[in-house]
Amino acid sequence: MLLTLPDEVRQLLRLVQHHVFMIYGDEDEYYFLFSEGMIAEQYNIPTRFVRNKSLTEIFTPYTYSILYPNVVKAFKGISTQFEMMYRERTMLVSLEPIIRGKKIEEIMGSAFDITVQKEAEKELRAALDKERQLHALKSQFVYTVSHEFRTPLTGITMSAELLQHYMGKMDEHTKRKTLESILHRTDELTTLIEDLLTQSSAQSLSTMFNPEITDPVFACQSIIQDIADTFHPITHTITFSFEEMLPAVHWDIRLMKHIIRNILTNAMKYSPSGTTIGIRLYYTHGAIHLSITDQGVGIADKDLPHIFTPFFRSNRTETVKGTGLGLSIVKEFVELHGGTVRAESQEHQGTTFILSFPEA
Ligand code: ADP
Repeated sequence: MLLTLPDEVRQLLRLVQHHVFMIYGDEDEYYFLFSEGMIAEQYNIPTRFVRNKSLTEIFTPYTYSILYPNVVKAFKGISTQFEMMYRERTMLVSLEPIIRGKKIEEIMGSAFDITVQKEAEKELRAALDKERQLHALKSQFVYTVSHEFRTPLTGITMSAELLQHYMGKMDEHTKRKTLESILHRTDELTTLIEDLLTQSSAQSLSTMFNPEITDPVFACQSIIQDIADTFHPITHTITFSFEEMLPAVHWDIRLMKHIIRNILTNAMKYSPSGTTIGIRLYYTHGAIHLSITDQGVGIADKDLPHIFTPFFRSNRTETVKGTGLGLSIVKEFVELHGGTVRAESQEHQGTTFILSFPEA
């Protein structure tokens, strides 16, 4: 049986942005009886073209592999609904058996283009994921901050209580020592707050990511100079070397400055005064690499996988102040540039951070 649709119905179907079709089976193969509507309109496929064509003739092997089991199911009398890619669009396809007597000789189907909805769904899911990550980060943040604040606060309370109860019995030296301890602890708290504020303002930088085609040598030279000018006193020797004729990169200079400052500050914090920090810019394996090498305490093998996790601090560097946030933000910023960051380290010898960026 071949079905012919009146022209008005044909036009109507094309207008309603739906596509309808009928399929009949003949000896394990399935053929279109008719196919009309949005897809025909969009891709300019004449109705005649698909009539009596088998599914294998019309669809790519991948699309066929999704459609075929559903068609078989519909011919067994079970209605189905599924998503299928057709010419890079996502279609929601429904198949309905047409039962006449005991036999199912044809099935009816409809397809609806849901690409826009799918994309919106994907964006929504990404936003939700980000929200979830942010929430987890916030919880961890609250935990760490309260933990970090508790130690100096306990110290301050203890010293103040000592003064309150024993001031009369204390000699001048002990009184001064106790007061100094309170001042030292408040200093610690101030540094902690400043550090946290710096990191949180850095994080808001990423919302304005604005990369530009940049000469990496020129950019690094001016960033390093800018940063070095703010270090007083200068405790380390910083060297910068680069390969000639490096390709351009796509960098957001404000973020790159933050990235380099963070790694450079760590290199200084975790290596003895007077040692050298070497910065190198080179090209290999289709990417531009920026390496920063120090001659410091190094990072233990067991700690290396965790250094980019927010709030992680190695217990080997506990005596040096920090929040454990710097490297996690560095990683986030490098990844915004489509790059990667990794560290290589030898305990007591030094650490190298290698940032790799695609060429522009
Ligand atoms: P912070 O320095 O504030 O603790 P980071 O996120 O910058 O936080 O670094 C995380 C941890 O990684 C540090 O606490 C330290 O243990 C380790 N680390 C980072 N850079 C170095 C380095 N150059 N040498 C040795 N250890 C480092």
